[in-house]
Amino acid sequence: MRHLLCQICGTPANRTEDGALWLLKDDRADWPGWPEGMTATHPPVCLTCAHASTRLCPHLQGGYVAVRAKNVRTLGVYGALYQPGPLGPRPVTDIITTPGDPRSRWVLAAQLVRVLRDCTFVDLEAPEDRTS
Ligand SMILES: [Zn+2]
Repeated sequence: MRHLLCQICGTPANRTEDGALWLLKDDRADWPGWPEGMTATHPPVCLTCAHASTRLCPHLQGGYVAVRAKNVRTLGVYGALYQPGPLGPRPVTDIITTPGDPRSRWVLAAQLVRVLRDCTFVDLEAPEDRTS
């Protein structure tokens, strides 16, 4: 996620002037303006893996969209928040923390979180998305 590598094969994710390519579960019905401002914990994808994922990934079988995001600033980390316990620290919930959040020192980070902005929906079958 830090280097925007494909979450499947680890090569650089597909990028155009409209940004890196993300495959997302389609949540347009739940959030007006989605995915603008969405937090993402899963990295973008390359075109080869995007096409394979739309056929093979069980998470995308209920509906997906391909999105390019130009602005993908890092927000913080997602992970398990621990609290002190009589036998040592114990996880109590999963949260997203940002730098400076006092809870950060009690979080075991699992995933980097980026915010997707300047998003454009793309058609994976369009010729311009096959060449870049
Ligand atoms: Zn890939």
